[in-house]
Amino acid sequence: MTESPIGLRDVYRARARIAPFVRRTPLVRADALSKAAGAEVRLKLECLQDIGAFKQRGAMNAILSLDPEARERGVVTMSTGNHGRAVAWAAARLGVRAVVCLSSLVPGRKVEAIRAAGGEVRVVGRGQDEAGEEAMRLVREDGLALIPPFDDPAVIAGQGTIGIELLEDFPEIDTALIPLSGGGLFVGIAGVLKAADPSIRTVGISMKRGAAMAASLEAGHPVAVEEVETLADSLGGGIGLDNRHTFARTAELIDEMVLLEEEEIAAGMRHLHHEEGLVTEGAAAVGAAALLAGKVRVEGRSVATIVSGRNVDMDSFAATIAV
Ligand SMILES: *Cc1c(COP(=O)(O)O)cnc(C)c1O
Repeated sequence: MTESPIGLRDVYRARARIAPFVRRTPLVRADALSKAAGAEVRLKLECLQDIGAFKQRGAMNAILSLDPEARERGVVTMSTGNHGRAVAWAAARLGVRAVVCLSSLVPGRKVEAIRAAGGEVRVVGRGQDEAGEEAMRLVREDGLALIPPFDDPAVIAGQGTIGIELLEDFPEIDTALIPLSGGGLFVGIAGVLKAADPSIRTVGISMKRGAAMAASLEAGHPVAVEEVETLADSLGGGIGLDNRHTFARTAELIDEMVLLEEEEIAAGMRHLHHEEGLVTEGAAAVGAAALLAGKVRVEGRSVATIVSGRNVDMDSFAATIAV
């Protein structure tokens, strides 16, 4: 196992730093899902964060970790939506300038949400990688500090605080179902859980359409995939061909990778709405979806899944759950 730059102490320090700014979210029982899965299933409700997604944790930790001069100059990021919203929100809370570079695939409601949170928006290209190039230009030319969406030790440590809360609230946990895109969420949580007990099973879940991490794990190195529309739009985007942390760490920590069809994700969203009264975006429903589809074996286990966000267009949500 290679030495990780993100240790447990970093996650505890992140937790102390961000505590005034993030919600310690509830972990709730999911009786219908438990029955369907034949296991004790609990939901970590990260959809209850102020910005509607867990990304507030990593963004806040990264900005709070900057030195005062860097904060004075401001921050920049590229994002498929929730991370951009999180950076704009966190920066606004701290009185820091934030520029968010987005691809034209990002839904308009997410762009508006970023502006509403106080961020300056720049739309460039059709993919996260092109938005990333514009962000790098602002770093070089304007001296802004880059807050990457996932491939960054401070961001990973921030997302890892979810892992500490899981262990505190559910010490019997033996399987974690974690939505997986760039891997900041997965690596943060799985790193904490495996440090506590290497036998805890960590399952990464993505959509079949355009899963860059799954394709990269398969290839043995980071690869680009075509970005396509999916119900789990927060799981879209590349992992970066020059990925420094999350690819290697995901490869070390992951016990099982599950890929879902669009109809399976829709069934997960429908279930969480009908049975638990939750509004979730596709990315947040993949744990429930994997259990309902029988794609992950959990019999008799103590399972937690991360309900990672609620930022979904209400018209398309209504259409998805109406079926
Ligand atoms: C970003 C995001 C994810 C995936 O997180 P990564 O760190 O990119 O793997 C999952 N769900 C939601 C709602 C997100 O915004």
